[in-house]
Amino acid sequence: MRAMEKFDVAIVGAGAAGLMCAAVAGQLGLRVVLIDHATRLAEKIRISGGGRCNFTNINAGPGNYLSENPRFCRSALARYTPRDFLDLLARHGIAWHEKHRGQLFCDESAEDIIEMLRRECAAGRVHWRMPCAVHTVAHTAAGGAHPYHLTTDAGHIAAKRLVVATGGLSIPKIGATDWGYRIARQFGLEIVEPRPALVPLMFDASTWAPFTGLSGLSLEVDVSTGKGRDAGNFLEDLLFTHRGLSGPAILQISSFWTPGQSITLNLAPTFDIEAALFEAKAASRRQLGNLLAQWVPARLAEAWVANSGLSPQARMQELSDKALRALAQAFSGWTLKPCGSEGWRKAEVTRGGVDTRALSSATLEARTQPGLHFIGEVVDVTGWLGGYNFQWAWASAVACARAMSEGMRAGQAGGDARS
Ligand SMILES: Cc1cc2nc3c(=O)[nH]c(=O)nc-3n(C[C@H](O)[C@H](O)[C@H](O)COP(=O)(O)OP(=O)(O)OC[C@H]3O[C@@H](n4cnc5c(N)ncnc54)[C@H](O)[C@@H]3O)c2cc1C
Repeated sequence: MRAMEKFDVAIVGAGAAGLMCAAVAGQLGLRVVLIDHATRLAEKIRISGGGRCNFTNINAGPGNYLSENPRFCRSALARYTPRDFLDLLARHGIAWHEKHRGQLFCDESAEDIIEMLRRECAAGRVHWRMPCAVHTVAHTAAGGAHPYHLTTDAGHIAAKRLVVATGGLSIPKIGATDWGYRIARQFGLEIVEPRPALVPLMFDASTWAPFTGLSGLSLEVDVSTGKGRDAGNFLEDLLFTHRGLSGPAILQISSFWTPGQSITLNLAPTFDIEAALFEAKAASRRQLGNLLAQWVPARLAEAWVANSGLSPQARMQELSDKALRALAQAFSGWTLKPCGSEGWRKAEVTRGGVDTRALSSATLEARTQPGLHFIGEVVDVTGWLGGYNFQWAWASAVACARAMSEGMRAGQAGGDARS
């Protein structure tokens, strides 16, 4: 067990946000210790983007984030942009490409991002404690210039400031914990109820029985849920699974969905299916099943016709206007109520977290607890699918690091720069 060690900043959580914050704060001259309980560094970066890390989105802006306080993320996002992150990649010679709608991925591997952040931390002379659990955190006036006292597996640590970067609750098997929320509560901050987000949705067995045969099928849809400020709407790919729905369309909408709510899908989002059905009725003697299969995957056409109580062999001219209208409505406004989500095991992120109304948007510091900062996913700022969550991790980390450096230079929160 080591004796008490003193640092300007202790950062708990060496994921995307913690690594970035440590690197920047260290390079700005602060003495930083970075603590993580995991044995492998930055697992979420490693598994992200199918192993290639969708590290940012070139179009990232405040409109791509959900929060009880939607304006909160503006300041940090404006001061550290996707371009800034690309400059960092360029300095490390990391090649990247754009995949889809501004989503940027590594050409080679997500490991490149981890190595880059490790090198940036080395340049900032960051001290590491990993794997290392933090048992208690206290803020004591008796600590003088170093009021934050941490008891850890690696001994006692005293710091002028404490940064909580422990992320959200998704994927507990790779180290997610509620530690950040507990520390927030310990210091009197509120938590916006955490919920799994960017997660597949499930349906009860009887609702889903007619569709289990569609498992594996994918198509572009328009999906929506909610009302007013809480409404979400995306044009993305949908994937049928054995238990329900997944794919980018559903992951996106899951962040807006609340239990008990319905979602509505338009399975033919790029054309007016009702008009097309009536046109076909007037012009041809084609069979309904064949006609639909021209517009959507054949398996889906079959399931839909069967579900509507119509025969796929029925000739278009034999079908009543009412039946065609009902079929078109079922296709373009398929409304269904999920019974739940696949939960923390499958969620890519957490919606909710430390209530931002208690934090400064410029410094990420708790308003009522000087020297205590929260960055990254632990905060109630949740990005859409597509690189937005990492951009928030980088931007909030940099805002916090710069603010700590400025604060210490100005002698605020009882501290000097590196001594
Ligand atoms: C499968 C998957 C794929 C994803 N793909 C993308 C993507 O391509 N693009 C994108 O933008 N986002 C993606 N995300 C989301 C993204 O990974 C997170 O939003 C981002 O990692 C959050 O960064 P963070 O630093 O706040 O938290 P994390 O990266 O989760 O880091 C938190 C760190 O805190 C540590 N920790 C937790 N509890 C404790 C404790 N009690 N004591 C000490 N240490 C602790 C953890 O070990 C971890 O290292 C993906 C997520 C998942 C699960």
